[in-house]
This record gives sequence, C-alpha cells and structure tokens, in this order.
Amino acid sequence: MDVAETHRTRLLILGAGPAGYTAAIYAARAGLEPILVAGLQPGGQLTITTDVENFPGFATAVQGPWLMDQMRAQAEHVGTRIIQDVVTSVELAARPFRALGDSGDAYECSAMVIATGAQARWLGIPGEKELSGFGVSACATCDGFFFRGKEVAVIGGGNSAVEEALYLAGLASKVTLIHRRDSLRAERIMQERLFKHPKISIIWNTVVEEALATEGQFRALRALKLRDLLGGGHYELPVHGMFVAIGHDPATGLFRGQLKTDEDGYIVTEPGSARTSIPGVFAAGDVQDRIYRQAVTAAGSGCMAALDAEKWLAHIPDDAPSPAAYDSVSV
Ligand code: NDP
Repeated sequence: MDVAETHRTRLLILGAGPAGYTAAIYAARAGLEPILVAGLQPGGQLTITTDVENFPGFATAVQGPWLMDQMRAQAEHVGTRIIQDVVTSVELAARPFRALGDSGDAYECSAMVIATGAQARWLGIPGEKELSGFGVSACATCDGFFFRGKEVAVIGGGNSAVEEALYLAGLASKVTLIHRRDSLRAERIMQERLFKHPKISIIWNTVVEEALATEGQFRALRALKLRDLLGGGHYELPVHGMFVAIGHDPATGLFRGQLKTDEDGYIVTEPGSARTSIPGVFAAGDVQDRIYRQAVTAAGSGCMAALDAEKWLAHIPDDAPSPAAYDSVSV
C-alpha cells in the first residue's frame, strides 16, 4: 500500500499545459528543481486538438497530443519532477504554501506557479463531442484555416463570438452567427463591424439542437439542426464548421477567496508580469488570460512566471523557509 508523502520543493507548478510545461522548463534550467503536478487532463486543451499549424517551429502541422508529449519530455529532460496527481485544495495564507493531492500526498513550496488553464464551454448537444476536431471547434484562430472557402457557423453573442465570426469571414466563404436572443452582448463597435460584413449573416432567437454528421467511415460535420425559439420550428443549416463561442471557465475554484480574481474567476496578474495578489504566487496561461488563449501566448506567460518566480526565490533561503523569511521580500 502506498504511504502518503509530503513533497517539498522551492517551486510547485500546477498544470500541465503549454504554460505549466514552459514554466517548468525555465525553472528547471535555472536550478530550481521544480515539481509539476499534472492534474486531470495532462497536456491541457491541446490534447483534444488534432492538427496544430500555428505553434512556431514546425513547418508542417503537428498533432496537439504529440506536441504536449514533447513539452512534457523536454520539461523532464531538463530536471522537472512531474507527478500525476489532482490537487484538491491549496493553502496560500500560510508559508510555505501547501497543496493537497487526491492521492493523499501533500506538497509544500516557497513559490507556486498556477497554470491550471481554462475550459471552453460547450453546448452539450448530440453530435458536438463526437464531431469535435471534425468540424466542431471552440477556437477559430486554431482551426479556422481548415475551413477556407467553406461555410461555417458561430454560436454565441458575446465578444468572442463576434471576434470569431469576423476572423472566420476572412477565410470562409460564408459565416452564419447563431444567437439565442435578439441582441448581442458584444461591444457596439464589434457589432457594427459584424453587421456591415458582406460574408456574415445572423440568425436570431435560435438554438442549435444537434450537430449532424456525414454518412460513411470518415464522419464530419454536414449540418446543424436548429430550433427557432419564436416560431418553434426546426430546420437544418448545412455547414462544414461550427465554432462554439459561448464563453470559457477558468480552472480557479481551488483559489477562490485566496487570490484576487476578476468577476469571471480569472486570476488577476499585475500588468507585464505573472505576479498575483500574493507575493510568491504566480499565474500563467489561460487561467489569467481571457483574450489571447493561444498555446504560444500561454507558453510565453509560463516563461514569464518562471522568471518572476526565480527572481522572487533569489531572496528566500533554500532550506525550511520560515514565515519571517518572506516578509522582507519585494520584487
Ligand atoms: P460572454 O459570456 O460575454 O458571452 C457568451 C455568449 O454566449 C452570450 O451571448 C450568451 O448568450 C451565449 N451563450 C451562453 N451559453 C449559451 C448556450 N448554452 N447556448 C447558446 N448561447 C449561449 O463570453 P465571451 O467568451 O464572448 O466573453 C467573455 C469575456 O471576455 C467578456 O467579458 C468579453 O467582453 C471578454 N472578451 C474580450 C475580448 C476582447 O476584448 N477582444 C475578446 C473576447 C472576450 P446571452 O447573450 O443570451 O447570455
């Protein structure tokens, strides 16, 4: 039987997406001997993606899961200890910071990088999950390119949906925005651009009830089954792509009430840094980014978090940190 352990490290990284792995690579190379706890979905959102064509360094498309395996191997190769566990609680009020894992193990650290990511919200309709990566996507910047010259739909009425529709209009032959109400919540200027765009049309007061697949061995999206909320009727809209843009949920439940977050739960970092409201706690990637949400920007902010943590730790003694050691530190 396994006996619960307490793992002590100068730097604990939570999350195994591009932000967490990049923080780990930089921290390990700086000699911080970080521990990275990989969480429920090691590899993060890229593990549910197929072709990745926008991560620099690869002349041809690479597979999302493969890219994440490479990042993991790179982080381990330079000296990161990666532990498969799911953190169920954290304590940031006392020092050293503590985290508890589902395994029963505890983690103690002088500094922490939070890179737990965010999840796109999905509609939860039949066909959506099955066709994810085969016509259904939650990221136009990632997947829009595969729909050049084709007809696509965007679902939602916020800034994300309007931005995605405008982005896709530069690639697709036709974009239909489908919204459940009769007005958008996106900024006025974005709405004006949307309404003016010759390739974009809008279907109001309508919800998608099902994503319909082509017949045969290689199934792909062929149409959406729509329900008109006013008239009550159903009909099909033929499309090759459906982009769901109904919001994201940052994975910040563990930190609520302990760290400053915005009204949607995203961790607030000081502009131009990865510093959070608690000295010694840094945040990187989608958990603190509601705008860009790209693998490469997550990786970049992971690097920032590691550099900020390294700078901060330079003031903290290596051995059994006492609370007093932290009080005088400011960076
Ligand atoms: P929002 O929460 O602003 O909008 C979500 C949209 O999806 C709403 O129109 C909502 O409809 C609709 N929706 C939600 N659930 C469903 C569902 N189950 N079925 C159908 N429609 C649904 O999310 P965003 O991702 O657009 O934006 C999040 C935040 O990030 C906002 O504050 C936004 O301003 C910001 N943002 C800023 C950007 C920028 O500055 N460039 C870019 C992107 C986002 P309803 O309106 O009826 O509630």
